[in-house]
Amino acid sequence: MNTTFDLITLGAGSGGVAASRRAAAHGARVLIAEDSRVGGTCVIRGCVPKKLMMYAAGFSHALEEARGFGWTGVSGRFEMARWADAKAAEIDRLEGLYRTMLDTAGVTLAMGRARLSGPGEVEINGQRYQAPRILIATGGAPARDAIPGLEHAMTSNEVLDMRELPASVLVIGGGYIAVEFASILAGLGSRVTLAFRAELPLRGFDVDLRARLAASLTERGIELASGVDLSSLEQDVEGFRLLRADGSTLRAKAALNATGRHPNTAGLGLEDLGVTLASDGSVVVDADSRSTVPGIWAIGDVTNRVNLTPVAIAEGRAFADNEFAGQRLRVDHRTVASAVFTDPPMATIGLTELQACAQGPVAVFESEFRPMKTAFAGGTSRTYMKLVVDGLNDRVLGVHMLGTDAPEIVQSLAVALSCGATKRDFDRTIAVHPTAAEEFVLMREPVRRTAGVAPA
Ligand code: NDP
Repeated sequence: MNTTFDLITLGAGSGGVAASRRAAAHGARVLIAEDSRVGGTCVIRGCVPKKLMMYAAGFSHALEEARGFGWTGVSGRFEMARWADAKAAEIDRLEGLYRTMLDTAGVTLAMGRARLSGPGEVEINGQRYQAPRILIATGGAPARDAIPGLEHAMTSNEVLDMRELPASVLVIGGGYIAVEFASILAGLGSRVTLAFRAELPLRGFDVDLRARLAASLTERGIELASGVDLSSLEQDVEGFRLLRADGSTLRAKAALNATGRHPNTAGLGLEDLGVTLASDGSVVVDADSRSTVPGIWAIGDVTNRVNLTPVAIAEGRAFADNEFAGQRLRVDHRTVASAVFTDPPMATIGLTELQACAQGPVAVFESEFRPMKTAFAGGTSRTYMKLVVDGLNDRVLGVHMLGTDAPEIVQSLAVALSCGATKRDFDRTIAVHPTAAEEFVLMREPVRRTAGVAPA
């Protein structure tokens, strides 16, 4: 087998595969190494199976709503094992597609654990390969060290492989993974307690969204145990006990640890070659994803910049276009839309109100209503939308939404924000009626104006 390439990529997740295919399209000879399954976190044990589980959970709500629309005899029981089998088949299919995509692109796949064995050299299963460019795209893995005892709990990896739904679950953490699985597991029928140390979930998001998300999770029957530091997790014959700093204890049959992720850099041989790692273990890179050692780049979660699949893909493609097609591309990490797949979901792009206020005068527009479908079926959940607008030049700085279809709606508005849309542009856009999204172009008067001072 040929052992000399133009590029060796470590990690066949979304970022590594995108970079390798793009480099091959530019004529580079590429080797990609993977020691688990092709597709990485997003496809195998992240975004994709999570969303399939979210769809399953959504039916409990849809069945309830159907009754409000005149349907009778609507009922059912969720069988996790049936879902698990169908999910496994779908992930196998997607992994097969990823392998075919690499093959079609002419990228050589080497299965096995890779490590850097010298300058421009990588060892996989005892075989050494050489390339002038090496790309680290090894992603991250669940952290288990936030509090003692977390090693006994499931992580997002195991929860996606469950074949039986636990009667009760303690979800530990208040970030993306915690709130999404709390919502999903509650939708499927588990009794869920979401335990986190802040007052509100999802630190970093707009506070109006966070407060409304907390209310809607509570409304869905999830117990929020917030505002208290977490001390340790213990397992006994009854299940799990989470001890908190105020002396209280939370109990459940199962526990899900969602206290963040660590970059996968251990054992890669990076430090031996002089590659600088940050204190969290991530590879330190510049704006072009170059590590501190010439010839070694890193993209995606292993760099702990913006840990989202589309960002890793954009970083990977920019690297390949720059290095193999002479382009000068840089990923703008400042305005990246993101969604949280709770029920209802939320999505956001741009600055929060607090961040915008720190920069100068701001006008805030809001809309809050019961969506037509929910109201008709007798539901109480509400949709919330918010625009944060620059008080000086009218530019829309932030779009935030909690409600049905929020991720789809915000994705479209992300284009407008990337183009620098002003509130006037939103105002002169004619609505699509009747939709929820139209509310974003029908907000007339600001609910408040601030003179550049952060609101209390
Ligand atoms: P996050 O960083 O989002 O959340 C980690 C949570 O753990 C926070 O609530 C944090 O609390 C809490 N925590 C950390 N240490 C402790 C501690 N010692 N005691 C108590 N609580 C603690 O990580 P996730 O694991 O949820 O997600 C990882 C990454 O995956 C995210 O960065 C996200 O970008 C990505 N992701 C994206 C999704 C999407 O786009 N929909 C879905 C899932 C994941 P505190 O805030 O107080 O520090």
